[in-house]
Amino acid sequence: MSGERNIEIICVGNELLIGKTLNTNAHWLAKRITSLGLKVRRIIVVGDDLEEISSAIKESINRKPCFIIITGGLGPTFDDKTLEGVALGLGLKLQENKEALEMIRAKYERYVAEGRIRGYEMTPHRVKMARLPEGAKPLPNPVGTAPGVFLEYDGVKMVMLPGVPEEMKSIFDESVVPMMRKIAGNLTFYEVSLDVKNLPESELAPILDIVMHDNPYVYIKSHPKTSEKTSHLELHFSTTCEDSNTARQRIGRAVVQISEMIKKKGGTIKPVKG
Ligand code: AMP
Ligand code: MG
Repeated sequence: MSGERNIEIICVGNELLIGKTLNTNAHWLAKRITSLGLKVRRIIVVGDDLEEISSAIKESINRKPCFIIITGGLGPTFDDKTLEGVALGLGLKLQENKEALEMIRAKYERYVAEGRIRGYEMTPHRVKMARLPEGAKPLPNPVGTAPGVFLEYDGVKMVMLPGVPEEMKSIFDESVVPMMRKIAGNLTFYEVSLDVKNLPESELAPILDIVMHDNPYVYIKSHPKTSEKTSHLELHFSTTCEDSNTARQRIGRAVVQISEMIKKKGGTIKPVKG
C-alpha cells in the first residue's frame, strides 16, 4: 500500500523466528511511529538469510511506503547480513564508507580510553560494519558500536538499525524521529480505552457497527479478555488528525454515543487510566 505516511518495519534475525527473542523492537517502533501520527502498514520478520532479506526489501520498496525501518543484522559476525541483503535487493554495491569507518574507529578509541579494552585494530570484522550500500549514510550510534544506516532509494527512505534494543531506540530517537516529524507535520495520534463488563462481544458487535458508521474518523477496536468468566472487554478508540482538540472531540463524541448504547443493554463501563 503506497502512501506518504505509510511505514513498513522489517525485523531480521533467526532468534525471532525460533522464539528465542521476543520482537520487542517491532512493538516499540510501532507504538512510537503511531504516536508520531504516521501509519505502520506492515511488520515483517525474516531470518539471517541474504535471499530472504533482499526479497523482503524488494517487495517492501514496490509498495512505496515513505519509510522502511529495518532492525537487526548490522554487527560484525557472519550472520549479520542486513547491509549485504539490502545491497543485493536493490542492485547496489557495498562500499567502505569513510564516515562510518571513522565513527567505528572513534568508538574503539573511546573504549580504550575508558579502559574497556586494552587496544584495538580495525580487523575485517570491524571494517564490515562500515561497508554500506553505495549512496548510504551512517547514523551515529550513541550507545553502541555499529552505526545505523540511512539510504534513499526510488523515493523511499530506508533506515537500518542494530538489533540491540537500546541501540535501536537511541538511533531512532536521535536521527529518525526528526525526519518523521517533518513528514507528519502537526499530526497527532489520540487514544482512549474503556473497560466494559456484562456485555458479550456478540451483543456489542451491532453497536460498534452503528457507532463506527456515525464516527468515520474514529477507529474502535474491542479486545476481549477471555480469561474472565463474566463478559469483560477493553474498547480502544483511536484517531489521527491535525490538532489535538479535534482529536479529543471526535473520540469524546464516539465514547458518549457508545456508552449510552452499552448501558441500555445492561453493560457497565469504566475508563481505563494510563
Ligand atoms: P543483531 O543486531 O541482529 O546482531 O542483534 C543483536 C541482539 O539484539 C540479538 O541477539 C537479540 O538479542 C536482540 N534483537 C535483535 N532483534 C531484535 C528484535 N526485533 N527485538 C528485540 N531484540 C532483538
Ligand atoms: Mg542478528
